[in-house]
Amino acid sequence: MSNFFSENFSKLPNSKTSIFAIMSGLANKENALNLSQGFPDFKSDYHLIELVNRAMLNGYNQYAPMPGVYGLREAIAEKFEKLYQEKYNPETEITITAGGTQAIFTAITATVKKGDEVIIFKPAYDCYEPTVELVGGKPIAIQLDPESFKINWEEVKSLINSKTRMVIINSPHNPSGKVLSKEDMQQLEKILKNTNILLISDEVYEHIIFDSQKHESACLYPGLKERTFIIASFGKTFHNTGWKMGYCAAPAYLTTEFRKVHQFNVFSVHHPTQVALATYITNEQNYLNLGNFYQQKRDFFLNLMKESRFKFIPSKGTYFQLLNFSDITNENDFDFAKRLTIENKIATIPISVFNEQNLDTKVLRVCFAKTEETLQKAAEILCKI
Ligand code: PMP
Repeated sequence: MSNFFSENFSKLPNSKTSIFAIMSGLANKENALNLSQGFPDFKSDYHLIELVNRAMLNGYNQYAPMPGVYGLREAIAEKFEKLYQEKYNPETEITITAGGTQAIFTAITATVKKGDEVIIFKPAYDCYEPTVELVGGKPIAIQLDPESFKINWEEVKSLINSKTRMVIINSPHNPSGKVLSKEDMQQLEKILKNTNILLISDEVYEHIIFDSQKHESACLYPGLKERTFIIASFGKTFHNTGWKMGYCAAPAYLTTEFRKVHQFNVFSVHHPTQVALATYITNEQNYLNLGNFYQQKRDFFLNLMKESRFKFIPSKGTYFQLLNFSDITNENDFDFAKRLTIENKIATIPISVFNEQNLDTKVLRVCFAKTEETLQKAAEILCKI
């Protein structure tokens, strides 16, 4: 057997167990409060669960159509029109996926070729880079300033060359909570004009945005929309990350390529859930209140954290908050996060794992998609450190 495992055997030699699995595993073992992985500790809407049950009882238990249940694609197209006054054709431009991760994987696999360069901003969600590497592409990482997380568009411009195939943006941004502005989107639009560079716009936190800001979807910018795969996740919006449901909206010429991979990657995704979501999503109250809902949680948590020695700038979107611990210890963030889990019984994510060369900025990420009771307990622990 060992011959197979020669130096060149692995397609992803640098890929390790994800930090989420490590920290959640440690949290379970240590019986620690788990603020590491990004998922709610409260229930998904009972009505939605009922709709899924009903779809199962009504016989939607065989393969769904390859691109997804038409009624759901139609409802998504209507949502785009209502929120952004932008049209996507449900027949040719929207595909239902097994969550955002599969949509990202499929978009990259369908369009990035060997040797192509893909610009990624760090800290970055952890699936972008390995997927680019898997298809023989070359991730070109830009490390963002650890406090402002602002994109320097001049730097982006300077890295673009004939090999650049794709740029990946994510707003609201995991892990920083930073939101791209209209000016950011216009700058990007200007840079990509007259190029054949594609864009993945990871908008899975589209509705989790605070302080009266507006989500600048890539579809609002014609020079971006024409080259963009918009990625969405129902798990983030409807509190059921374990269902792994999402979608990709992209112009027809891109969706054609996307589906060529999708049909062999998963073919189609969970049928009864799609039937249920087709009904559930038509009630906009089910997603438009999400920003307020999570803003209250952010404020509740940060109000308690004022007493702590952690430093923070309130998150502008997502359900993550960064906490700087440089006034507490010199330890590297991974060791500190491990120690907090074992000694203080609270699990967080060290953000060096999302950074270029694992840059340690003495920052932890916590997830505040939790009940007030959990957040209160977490703040009590963190304020004693
Ligand atoms: N993009 C970002 C930025 C995320 O944070 C996540 C989930 N943590 C995803 C994509 C993947 O979403 P899903 O769970 O629907 O695959």
